[in-house]
Amino acid sequence: MRNYFRGESVTSDPDFVPTSQLGIGDRSWRTEVRQALRTTAAVRQFVGLENEAPATPERAFATFVPRPWARRIRRGDPDDPLLRQVLVDAREGDSVDGFVTDPVGDECSSVGGGLLHKYTGRALLITTAACGIHCRYCFRREFPYSQHASRGSGYRSALAQIRRDDSIREILLSGGDPLMLDDNSLGQLTDQLAGIDHLRRIRYHTRMPVAIPSRITDAWIKMVTASRLRHWVVIHANHPAEFDAEVCAALGRIIDAGIPVLNQAVLLAGVNDRFDVLRDLCELLIDVGVQPYYLHQLDRATGTAHFEVSVETGKHLMSQLREVLPGYAVPQYVAEIPAQKHKTPLG
Ligand SMILES: *Cc1c(COP(=O)(O)O)cnc(C)c1O
Ligand code: SF4
Repeated sequence: MRNYFRGESVTSDPDFVPTSQLGIGDRSWRTEVRQALRTTAAVRQFVGLENEAPATPERAFATFVPRPWARRIRRGDPDDPLLRQVLVDAREGDSVDGFVTDPVGDECSSVGGGLLHKYTGRALLITTAACGIHCRYCFRREFPYSQHASRGSGYRSALAQIRRDDSIREILLSGGDPLMLDDNSLGQLTDQLAGIDHLRRIRYHTRMPVAIPSRITDAWIKMVTASRLRHWVVIHANHPAEFDAEVCAALGRIIDAGIPVLNQAVLLAGVNDRFDVLRDLCELLIDVGVQPYYLHQLDRATGTAHFEVSVETGKHLMSQLREVLPGYAVPQYVAEIPAQKHKTPLG
């Protein structure tokens, strides 16, 4: 397998201080959030590309790239598969038939208070609108978070609904990214969930272990392992170069604490629509102890058409993966179809 760890670009970051020179907590995840790159110009400069005026205004979904993640981008390569995921593209302004603001029908499955109850036995709680990285292909980029306020009320309405419905066994903490909340807020929320007898599991859907690995604090690990509820973590990585030693160490701490970790990826043109990239991603995941879970067909959100890969290509890639990988390393290739009670397998 190719060695995707790209420590060599570290010195290009003028603010970078090796961890060994820092006291614990100095470069906390909060600092990483504060120091994230927030403009196209900042990202281009960081990765050593000539600056040019951004071709498209960023509007509501602004650039947001944390430095630990940006350091894994290959310097001077405008086609880098990590850069592609975060750099504003002029094609985002194109309007393309079939690409809409709510491609997965979340508006319909919302039962209010930030709770989406679409699938049997599990409900998804929007904990925050914030993410630790802004992915240009995201289906939630146009999501009206302000209309799904849950946190302001201390999740009162969502918790009441979960209490009322004893068919719900599992709560997915989503967003945004639940790990953008601090450990105290998460502790209060998960304590309240643990007090609801019919709940058995909490599942974090988070990109933070990959985007800002220092978010995996000892306090959070302790909290999760102490809970009555079984915790699962689903991370999101699309390319093997998203993993460096720090990410692998953070994932190792979660796994060593006995928490199962799964990965979901999105099939993205120019990022991972190649057999060797997907094979290396899956192999790296299982070597780190993370189970490949889903490979998602892109949700058709406005401004993301240039990321789409045809289902035919996706199926072909899947059959190639099955030929070389152990069965447990092959993700399910799925689409989210509005009104369906589960993800739809594509083959
Ligand atoms: C994807 C999703 C889930 C979780 O589905 P799993 O197949 O259990 O991973 C739950 N609720 C909503 C609204 C979803 O989109
Ligand atoms: S971290 Fe997830 S929710 Fe946030 S922008 Fe990226 S894909 Fe979207």
